[in-house]
Parts: sequence; C-alpha cells; structure tokens
Amino acid sequence: MHLSRALVIWCFSLAAVLSGSVVKAEDVHSYARLDQVSTPHLDLVLTVDFEARKLKGHATYTLQRHDDTNQIYLDSSELVIKRTEIRVNDQWLPTKFTLGDIHPSLGQELIVDIGSIADKVRIHYETTPTASGLQWLTPAQTAGKKHPFMFSQSQPIHARSWIPIQDSPALRLTYNATVTTPEGLLAVMSADNSLSEERSGEYHFAMPQPIPPYLIAIAAGDLAVKSISDNVAVFAEQYILDDAAWEFADTPAMIEATEAMYGPYRWDRYDLLILPPSFPFGGMENPRLSFITPTVVSGDRSLINLIAHELAHSWSGNLVTNASWRDLWINEGFTSYVENRIMESLFGKKRAQMELALGYQDLLANMERLEPQDTVLNIDLGTRHPDDVFSQVPYVKGQLFLVYLEEKFGRETFDKFLRKYFDDFAFQSISTAQFKTYLQRELLAKNPDAVSISKVNEWLHEPGLPADAPKPTSDAFAQVEKQMQRWLKGGQLQTEEWTTHEWLHFINNLPLDISAENMARLDREFNLTEIKNSEIAHAWLKLSIVKKYEPARERLRSYLLTIGRNKLVSPLYRELAKTPDNLKWAREVYEQAKPGYHPLTQTVNEALLYDKN
Ligand SMILES: [Zn+2]
Repeated sequence: MHLSRALVIWCFSLAAVLSGSVVKAEDVHSYARLDQVSTPHLDLVLTVDFEARKLKGHATYTLQRHDDTNQIYLDSSELVIKRTEIRVNDQWLPTKFTLGDIHPSLGQELIVDIGSIADKVRIHYETTPTASGLQWLTPAQTAGKKHPFMFSQSQPIHARSWIPIQDSPALRLTYNATVTTPEGLLAVMSADNSLSEERSGEYHFAMPQPIPPYLIAIAAGDLAVKSISDNVAVFAEQYILDDAAWEFADTPAMIEATEAMYGPYRWDRYDLLILPPSFPFGGMENPRLSFITPTVVSGDRSLINLIAHELAHSWSGNLVTNASWRDLWINEGFTSYVENRIMESLFGKKRAQMELALGYQDLLANMERLEPQDTVLNIDLGTRHPDDVFSQVPYVKGQLFLVYLEEKFGRETFDKFLRKYFDDFAFQSISTAQFKTYLQRELLAKNPDAVSISKVNEWLHEPGLPADAPKPTSDAFAQVEKQMQRWLKGGQLQTEEWTTHEWLHFINNLPLDISAENMARLDREFNLTEIKNSEIAHAWLKLSIVKKYEPARERLRSYLLTIGRNKLVSPLYRELAKTPDNLKWAREVYEQAKPGYHPLTQTVNEALLYDKN
C-alpha cells in the first residue's frame, strides 16, 4: 500500500550529529530525518483518561537544527493531532502540520512547519483506544478488581502510537513529564519514580540521561511499592507485592556482580514494575524501571534469570543501543550473554550452563520454522514490521557469537574488551557495521591468530549457525536423560534435587511416542497439570496437546485465559492449530481470552488461528 511513495522515504540514509557524536544509521522504520533536525529533549504533559481509553495532552520538543530545513518529520500512529505550535523568541505561535498516508507497519508521517528560527515545537494530541503501544485493562482484568490499569510497550516502533515522536533508536533524548491520573491511582514512568505513599493523582518525572524513544514508558494503576534495598524497589498491585519482593531479593547482588564485570550502573535507581498477567513479554528493560511479567513470580526464585536479563540491558541496549531494528542483536545478543554471566556469577556454572543449553534448544527449534534469511544476525527486515520477525535469533545466536569470541580470545581478554566497549559507546546508538569496525580494531587486530574477519562476517551476515559454533550442553541434563531412560522402562524418577531447569529439559525431551499410561503416571506422581510454575506448566500443557492428554484440557483453558505473555501462549495456540478439532476449540478459548490480551498478543495469535489458507 502506497509503496512507491513510501519507498522514497525509506531509502534515505542519514548521518546525524547527536549529543556531540556522529551516528550513521539507516532506519527504514522511521520517517524522522535526523540529519535535518533532531529533538534532544521532550517535555510531556499527559492525562490518563481510563473511561475514554485515551492519553490526552501535549509533547514539546527542543529542536536541534543540522541544516536549513523549515519542517520536522515525526512518526505517528493512530494519533489524533489537535494543533501544533512553535516557540519563536519566547512566544508560542500556531503553526501548520500535515499527516501522510497510513502505512500498515509505519503509521503516518507527521510534518510540522517549524520555520527557520523556532527553538521548540509543541504538538497537542490524543491517543486512540486501539493504540498498539498501550493496553487498557478494566478493573475486572486486574487482580485487585477495583481499579483500572494501563501500561505502555513502546519497543520496537509503538512509541509513536502514544507520543508523536522521531521514533528511531538512532535518536537519543532526555525527557520530563507531568502525568495526571484519577485520584488514588499511581503513575510510574521509565524515569525517577518516587517511593512516596501519596496518591495525589498528579506526578512529575525526569529522565536526565539520553535514551532512545522506544525506552519511554508509562503505567498507571492501583500500585503499591516495597523496597528491596536502598536503590531497588518493587512496584506492584498489592496481591503480589510481598511475593515479588521476595522472589527478586537477589536484584541488588545482581547489580553488584554486573558492575564488577562491566563497569558502573549509570541509571541511579533500578526498580521493578510487576504488571498484570496480560503483559505480552517476559520483561521490558525500560530504564530505571523494568516492566516484568508476574509469570516469573514462581515462589522458588527459579525464573529470575529474567531479572538478570532486564538488568543487563542497563548496559547492553539502554547504554549502547542498536541504531536500527536490523541491529537488534546488538541489544539482545549482548544482553543474553551478560544475563548468563550474571547468573553464573551469582549461582554458579551449573545453573548458567543449564540456562544456556535450554536457550540453545529453543534456538534450534525456532530456526527450523524460520526462513534461512531470517536466521541472519544483521537481518534484512525490508519493510516488514519488526514484531513480525521476532525470534530467538538475535537473542541466542547473538549470545553464542559472544560465547564463541570469549572461547577464542579467553575470558580475561574478552571481559576487558566488553567493558571498554560499554565505556566507549555509552549513551550512543550503533550499527552492526560500527560494531564490526570496533571489534576488528580492539580485539581481532590485537590477537591476529584467534578469529578471522571472514568468520565474523559468517556470524553476522550468513544464515544458520557456523559449523564451529558452540553447542552448549549440560552435565545435569545428561543425568536427567539417563533417568528418563530408566523411567520409561518402569523405574522411579529421583527428582528431589531437580530445579525448574531439569524439569523443563525432562518434559521437552520426552519421546513423542510416550504412552498415555506414562503421561498419566507422570501426572499422578508429580501433579504436573496443576503445577504453579508457569514455565513447567507451559511445557507440560504443550505436550498434553500433542499427546491428546485430556485430563490437562481444563488447565490448558484456564492457562490461556489468565496469561497473556506471548512466549507462553502462542506456542500452545500454534500446536492447537494443527488439527481441525483443536483449532475449533482454540478459537473458542481465544475469543474468550482476547479482551484480556495485549494488542501484540492478539496480532500474533490471530495470525496463528485465523490466517490459515
Ligand atoms: Zn532483552
């Protein structure tokens, strides 16, 4: 749709001067022309209107001009733009704006006349109830049942659905915000959140470090707060507050461990926001305030590598950021690597190795489904929405690339390299090409026999995994497999020492011809159908679909109705869609669950359940 027109915009390349550093990037997912004028600071004033399911207010940008243009190009999606103003010699004056055609992935370009001397531009606007970056929950959809809840998910290109903005990760900006909510509710942002008990309905925020637009985040609801340490607290609905504070008690130790390896934590506080179960991701690394799914509050601290992951983004992703969504592995590959190093530092090699091996198994299964070109780290997204190409590749293949480099150069050398990398690119956005130049200069050239640049190119630009890629295994899993063989012949399982990881490995590797009697035997002995741990339940329910194990069907229904984390629900819908009877049942459950799912979870799962030819 509107392809010829859009191509003109997609094909420009930009070389922008931002915060004193030159960023060269080609971001096909933004209409912004950062080489003409950029926006280093945002002042946001918003009212949260739960009844209308809208945010209403205005965004004011400080302008930084790089040439003599008299227009600014911003991204918008489903926004209602009311009017625009510019500030000239301290006077606010009305100015003209135009909206471009609607593009299915990118939204609409918003072009505002800024003349030649204005130093600020202000856009008055409202969001629409279907904004892709916001979810609005009724009181009934929260745990407390009394108050509504709303939250944002801006990554990758959804910030534009709740703020008119130059929505490219190549931009970095600071922001201040004033947010008004109904009295008694609390608003929080990816900024300096107050721990005060007061619920006045008007809240002020500052994010003084420059961040990319996709890290601007907001949530509002009936939130309470509990401190874990001097600089770590949990925000959550009351029902889960104490449990979450207990579950994530290791967070301060994780910060210390990461600082020891990769340098200082540069964001002041690190707080966690526990979202309602509909949150579509495991976590989102919004700076100073990671957004976290409640499905990892398992009561045994077995899924806290998720916190290690979101915390790791404070270095990889938030401090050093991918310049475009083609370079997502720079965020996620580094973060998966750092996450695993944090887990090793706190809990030892055995657990870290199990988590690495589980990730590797996920990657292999995932790659079987992907087109070869989508298994490339520096992926060619073309005009596709980054959400449509979401996979384990940037995460685990990226992580394996760094594990490979660590093995080739030795941990000591590689750690020094990484620490310098975080310092050298702090608060910058970089491309794969920039990383490669840096790697060549700082690591390859200094150790000429270890890894060739053609090997690096294979990792970054070729599909699949190189033949000599690490193939993580775990001794603990080898023991699980031995036990499995004995058990399949009628022996007993010794599971007293098993953690969640061993259970996941066991269930995921059961032979697909396992008998109905053995399924029932497992369930009788270990009560797997009713298990609380969301990941083990997921693995068991998925197997139960394949094996047509009917006693798990009601749990499957309630699981799909109460959890909206896409990683946990979409593999179940995908499995159900494989037979006509199951597909019919899945559609019924989906329609019932849909109002509680995030727009992103809806899009992904409707593609699985309805777009079948
Ligand atoms: Zn991540």
